[in-house]
Amino acid sequence: MDLKIVLLGPPGSGKGTQTERLVAEFGFTKISTGDLLREAVRNGTELGVKAKGFMDAGKLVPDDLVVGLIREKLKGLKGGVLLDGFPRSLEQAQKLEEFFNVEMAVDLEVNPEVLIRRLTERRSCRACNSVFHLEFNPPKKAGSCDKCGGELYQRSDDTEKVVRERFTTYTERTAPLTEYYRKKGVLKSVDGMGAIDDVYKRIAAVIKTARK
Ligand code: AMP
Repeated sequence: MDLKIVLLGPPGSGKGTQTERLVAEFGFTKISTGDLLREAVRNGTELGVKAKGFMDAGKLVPDDLVVGLIREKLKGLKGGVLLDGFPRSLEQAQKLEEFFNVEMAVDLEVNPEVLIRRLTERRSCRACNSVFHLEFNPPKKAGSCDKCGGELYQRSDDTEKVVRERFTTYTERTAPLTEYYRKKGVLKSVDGMGAIDDVYKRIAAVIKTARK
């Protein structure tokens, strides 16, 4: 499907999990700034070295670094695109408009009380970035990824202390994007509570209304 989508929602709202499924069904190209930044940190690149301190503190990595990264990744891309974790601020959204036309912004709405638990019990695959949850979406074999057999680990920013800081960052910097995209007429709010499959069906239904 040839749609340009951004996925909004607080940390733990299910963006990564739902993105995996949307990519499988609709064939979108996924670009996740969080995954790209973690890869850069792992590889010790210049970007990774600059980004690490911000990520470990639950803060946003400076716009010039992230916008440059996304601009590079979008260059020459054809077909449907799903952005996960970008934009994260009004400044990023404005910059994005210079080179990418957001046709739909899907906002996952989730009660704050469930978010901490979703994050602190989340486990991620080191190899393919798939996400699991110890209770809500457990891997078939403890500690290893269902999709590729890679090692599951807890992200260093999924500890309770950093998670709280990430929420503050979200409220101050990212939440205003909902209003921004509403004014543009592209916002679709989706109830992000409940079972992963149920949330997925809601998102897929919204996307199908815009089939192109
Ligand atoms: P995520 O995997 O989307 O939760 O992102 C993990 C961390 O990467 C965030 O807490 C930020 O430190 C950083 N990050 C990811 N995306 C962005 C972005 N668009 N702008 C700034 N920092 C970002």
